[in-house]
Amino acid sequence: MLRIDILTCVPALFAGPFSHSILKRAQEKGLVQIAIHDLRDFTTDRHQQVDDYPFGGGAGMVLKVEPIAAAIRHLQSQRPYDRLIYLTPEGRHLDQHLANELSLCQNLLLLAGHYKGVDQRVRDLFITHEVSIGDYVLSGGELPAMVLVDAVVRLLPGVLGDETSALTDSFQDGLLEPPIYTRPADFEGHRVPDILLSGHFAQIDRWRDEQAYEKTRRLRPDLLADAD
Ligand code: SAM
Repeated sequence: MLRIDILTCVPALFAGPFSHSILKRAQEKGLVQIAIHDLRDFTTDRHQQVDDYPFGGGAGMVLKVEPIAAAIRHLQSQRPYDRLIYLTPEGRHLDQHLANELSLCQNLLLLAGHYKGVDQRVRDLFITHEVSIGDYVLSGGELPAMVLVDAVVRLLPGVLGDETSALTDSFQDGLLEPPIYTRPADFEGHRVPDILLSGHFAQIDRWRDEQAYEKTRRLRPDLLADAD
């Protein structure tokens, strides 16, 4: 079973996405355990202050090293972590390769930053990997942590109803997914391609491969170049 611990100063943000649909079922089935930890619980002052002004001046607050260090040390005393990941726009881009890699881990610790980010000493002393969900800046690392968790958890065996479903998704084979359809076969004169109604499954597979390749060539030629 995969265990994911998430450190945040806004734990309430995680309530929705982890309490519904596939992520909820994965937890109920015991395939993943997700624990959200409030950094404020690791403060020692009366105001439970997790942030402070940056040394040297400048705009924005910085998440303090002490509560994060205390939280990480507390969690590390309970289990060894394969990776301690800080979500940051400066990190390695999250892609399907990385999601596959992380799905093979047993214990992950994710740190969501906030404000201007975290004190550099957190990164120097504790973080083993830094991950970004794209070249744009969000207000906090909570949404990126949720994106990472979703991408990873749906790859765990038993999480998706149809075992092969994740394997046929875009990027798994370096291609985008072919077009998909469901009933009705005719919507206001727009018909589903005949081949999909033919029952010839070998031909359907071939058609899907061709469509996936063609769509990738049109929309994401960089993926084909990567495969060379
Ligand atoms: N000052 C930081 C910078 O320029 O890189 C941005 C700080 S951002 C406002 C606050 C937090 O959001 C970051 O500490 C990080 O945890 C998270 N974050 C923002 N954008 C992100 C992204 N694209 N990928 C991963 N995490 C991100």
